[in-house]
Amino acid sequence: MNVDRQRDEPKTRAALYTRISSDPSGQRAGVERQRRDCEAHCAARGWTVVEVFEDNDASASSGKPRRAYERMLAAVEGGGIDAIVTWHNDRLHRSPKELEAFIDLVERTRVRLAVVTGGDYDLTSPDGRLAARIVGAVARKESEDRSRRVRRKHLELAESGKPAGQLGWGVRDDGERELVREAAGRVLAGHGLMTITRDWNRRGVTGPTPAEWTAPTLRRALLSSRVAGLREHGVDPSGRTLGQLRPAVWKEAIDRPTWDQVRAVLLNPERNTNAHRPTRYLLTGLIDCGVCGARLFSRPRDDHTKRYLCAGRRRGHQLSILAVPVDELVAGQVLNLLTTASVRDAMLAQADAGDGTSLAATLAALGAAQSRLQVLDDDYYVRGALTEGRYRSVRVKLEREIDRLHASVDAVTRRRTILHPDPRSFWAEADFAQRREMLALVVERVIVAPGRPGMGRFDQSRVQVGLTPWARRGEALQRGALASPLAVPS
Ligand SMILES: [Zn+2]
Repeated sequence: MNVDRQRDEPKTRAALYTRISSDPSGQRAGVERQRRDCEAHCAARGWTVVEVFEDNDASASSGKPRRAYERMLAAVEGGGIDAIVTWHNDRLHRSPKELEAFIDLVERTRVRLAVVTGGDYDLTSPDGRLAARIVGAVARKESEDRSRRVRRKHLELAESGKPAGQLGWGVRDDGERELVREAAGRVLAGHGLMTITRDWNRRGVTGPTPAEWTAPTLRRALLSSRVAGLREHGVDPSGRTLGQLRPAVWKEAIDRPTWDQVRAVLLNPERNTNAHRPTRYLLTGLIDCGVCGARLFSRPRDDHTKRYLCAGRRRGHQLSILAVPVDELVAGQVLNLLTTASVRDAMLAQADAGDGTSLAATLAALGAAQSRLQVLDDDYYVRGALTEGRYRSVRVKLEREIDRLHASVDAVTRRRTILHPDPRSFWAEADFAQRREMLALVVERVIVAPGRPGMGRFDQSRVQVGLTPWARRGEALQRGALASPLAVPS
C-alpha cells in the first residue's frame, strides 16, 4: 500500500512531460522553458515532481515511437503517478488516436492532466474530453498545413527550374563544368572513379569541400541531375531513381544523353568497385571440351600454372589447356572484331533494335513514368485529391513500370558502353566484369579440341571461337576481320 495515501493530505505525485518539436510560434517551446513552466505549475499546487519524461522528435506529426511517452504511460498504469503536467496539449498528443488512447487511460486510472498553457482538461468529464479533442484537431491541422506549405514552396521552385538552396558543385562556373566533362568522358572510357580522383588530387583540383576528392563525392556529383542542367523535384538520396526533371535556370556541364550513359555505367550493379579482386579466369562458363561437350572448369595445376580442365576424365579422356594463352587469344579475336568498323556498325544497329525499342524511346518512357510518379505524389500529398488506397495501388504499378524500364535502359546502354569507340583502350582500363560483358557480347562458346603430340605447350589451332548470332551477322558483312593477324592485348 502507498504510504502517502494513508496521510491526511495525500501528496500528488506528478510526472512532467516535455517534447522537442518544430514550433510554429518559434519562441516558447524550448524544452528548458517547458520544464521550468511545468515545475512552477506543480509548485503552485503543492505537487511533487517524481519524474521528468522527455522526447525528442523534430516533427509534430511524425509517426516515430516516443519512448519516454510510452514509459510514462506505463508508469501511470503501474500506479506510480497521480498527475501528468505538460506545457501544451500538442506536446502530449500528436494525433486523435493517441488522444483517445490517453482518454481511455485516464478513465481507467483517474490520472490527472494539467496543461500549463490553455488550462487543464478534466478528461474524466465529457466537456473536458471535447475540449481536448478540439484543441488536438486544430494542432494537427496546423501541422499538416505547415508541411503542405513547405512542399508547395519546393514545388514552385522546382517548376521554375531554380535551385532548392545553394547551387552544387559542377555547374557553378566554366572551370567546374570542364571538370565534369572530363570525368564523364573518362567514366565512359572505362576509367574508375578512384583513378580520376587520384589524378585530380595530384593536380590540386578543388572540390565541393576543402577536403580531397574521394570516389563517392565524384560519384554523387556525376549522378546528380544538376550537371545535365536539370532541376529535379523529389530527389532520391541514393541517386538510383530520378524525380521529376525540368530544365534548370543554370548552364549545363554535359548534355542529357551523355549524362544518361554516365548514370548507366555508374549504377551498373556488376561494376567492380573493388580493385583488389583475386585474378579470375576470363572464359569460365564459356569454354567447352571438344571431346565430350562438357564445360571446362578452371583449376591451377600443382605448379600453379592456370589451366582449364575437362571433368570427363572418368569417361576415358583427359583434356586441359593453358588458361593465360587461351584467354589472350580469344580476347585478341574479340578486339579485332570490335575494331572493324562495319562489324561495329552492324552490332550497334542491332543493339538499338535489340528489344524492339531504341534507347531514346526507352529513356523518354522512363522520364514520363517518373513524372507521373511525381504528379501522383503531389496529387496525394499536396492537393489531397486521392484516397490513400488509390494512391498506394497506382504507385505500386508505376514503380513496377519504372523498374522494368530501368532494366531495359541498363541492358541497352551497357551494350552501347561496351561498343566503345576505342575497344582496345576500353579493354585496357576495364575491370573483370566489364571484360566478361564485352566477351559475352561476341563469344557464344569456345571449343577446345584435344591436344596433338609434338605441337608444343600451347597449340592455338585447338581453339575454335563460336560467335553470338549478332556478332556473326556483323562478321558476315566483313569477311576476313578474323583473318587479320591476331593482336594480343597486353
Ligand atoms: Zn571432355
